[in-house]
Amino acid sequence: MLDLFRKDTFRHGVHPPEMKDDTAELAIRQFPFAQVLIVPLSQHLGKPARPVVREGQEVVRGQTIAEPDGFMSVAMHAPASGLVRRIMLAPGITGTKVESIYIEPYPASTQEIDDGEPCSLDASPDEIITAIQNAGIVGLGGAAFPTHVKLKPPEGKHLDTLFINGVECEPYLTTDYRVMLEQTEDVFTGIRYLLRATGTSEAIIAIEANKQDAAERFRSMCPDDLPVSVRVSPVKYPQGAEKMIFSALIGREVPSGGLPADIGVICCNVATTAEIGRLLPRGRGIQERVITIGGPGVRRKGNYRIPIGTPVRFALEQCDPVDDISRVFMGGPMMGPTVSNLDIPITKGTSGITAFTTAETGGSTGNKKVYPCIGCARCVEACPMFLNPSQLGILAKNEEYEQMAESWHLMDCFECGACTYVCPSHIPLVQYFRMAKKMVRKLSAA
Ligand code: SF4
Ligand code: SF4
Repeated sequence: MLDLFRKDTFRHGVHPPEMKDDTAELAIRQFPFAQVLIVPLSQHLGKPARPVVREGQEVVRGQTIAEPDGFMSVAMHAPASGLVRRIMLAPGITGTKVESIYIEPYPASTQEIDDGEPCSLDASPDEIITAIQNAGIVGLGGAAFPTHVKLKPPEGKHLDTLFINGVECEPYLTTDYRVMLEQTEDVFTGIRYLLRATGTSEAIIAIEANKQDAAERFRSMCPDDLPVSVRVSPVKYPQGAEKMIFSALIGREVPSGGLPADIGVICCNVATTAEIGRLLPRGRGIQERVITIGGPGVRRKGNYRIPIGTPVRFALEQCDPVDDISRVFMGGPMMGPTVSNLDIPITKGTSGITAFTTAETGGSTGNKKVYPCIGCARCVEACPMFLNPSQLGILAKNEEYEQMAESWHLMDCFECGACTYVCPSHIPLVQYFRMAKKMVRKLSAA
């Protein structure tokens, strides 16, 4: 059937191999503490948190170690009981250094954690929003946007529908899938908080057809008083992008340069929702998260609840890495950035670590030979935003950034990588667009 006539999906897109079988059936396991945990004060979009501990201080697992510095900021919590060794700059995923709190866990530090002041389900919307900010919750799907900010739509906007995003279309990752199966009740509790905080009247859980058992579980366990429906979309990448979910499931399009609030909706990742449901009733903050560690570069693949701040190197070492790892992605291979320094930490936005060997990436640098554009238009047919990646790629090479933004809608690109995936010339289009978007933001700020 042509996509044009197909229900519950979007037009264009690609079908990369799902590669989820290795970890999909592996239950979430607790990850051990590394010798040093590095907690960046900026793991989210917005202002860095403000440290409230000093070097040499003892901290207890779950204790607030940094407070929000303004509305566009969230708290940080100690991932282990131990000693604050240093507060200093540490390398981050973007290559820039980020002020971070280094914690040395005590050898006897346990996974136990004390409860704090709970947030009641009867609390006011503002109280729930503050509790979410103080719990340090951000979008766990990868965006790391402060969740409490999303819950407060701009003045004059009314929200009617809450989407819970359980699509997880990125190859290799099974984090959200395991959370849906193992934390089903937490997801429902999280939805109760979110409905109350946003004033929305219904929630739609969006899932892809390769996770039918999760959809069935939600349907069979949903409490009668909860206005939740479950919608299943065909498997296609990037079905999990929120704009694709809105257009596929309710036929509403976010306007170019607009926000979901412009069409009356809000979208929250399912793992984020589960953490809200798990943490708020216990008055706790987020100091660990579930990630998938997989790919051909590790033998002990799995889904792990891992302390925030765990260095990527330690995470790989614990998973029995092969000798010739050539490329590591923070997240999956379609949207995840490449890790250039294994000493960077797992942050709240890290949904997985995927490791590849030279056999898959085509060389020790992980780069395939790039050929000139042959004008095949495969990238145009793949782009879910109906952009022209080929033309944008030519302009990017010529550094025509303003033209890319003004005439070719560069800023509508959400960096899904579908164009790069289909390009027979191996042109790293999405890398060009990431860089070009940075340049456009720099130019407009100047
Ligand atoms: S141009 Fe952007 S949105 Fe379109 S396919 Fe490429 S990365 Fe995805
Ligand atoms: S897919 Fe690659 S080769 Fe084909 S038009 Fe797009 S950029 Fe050119």
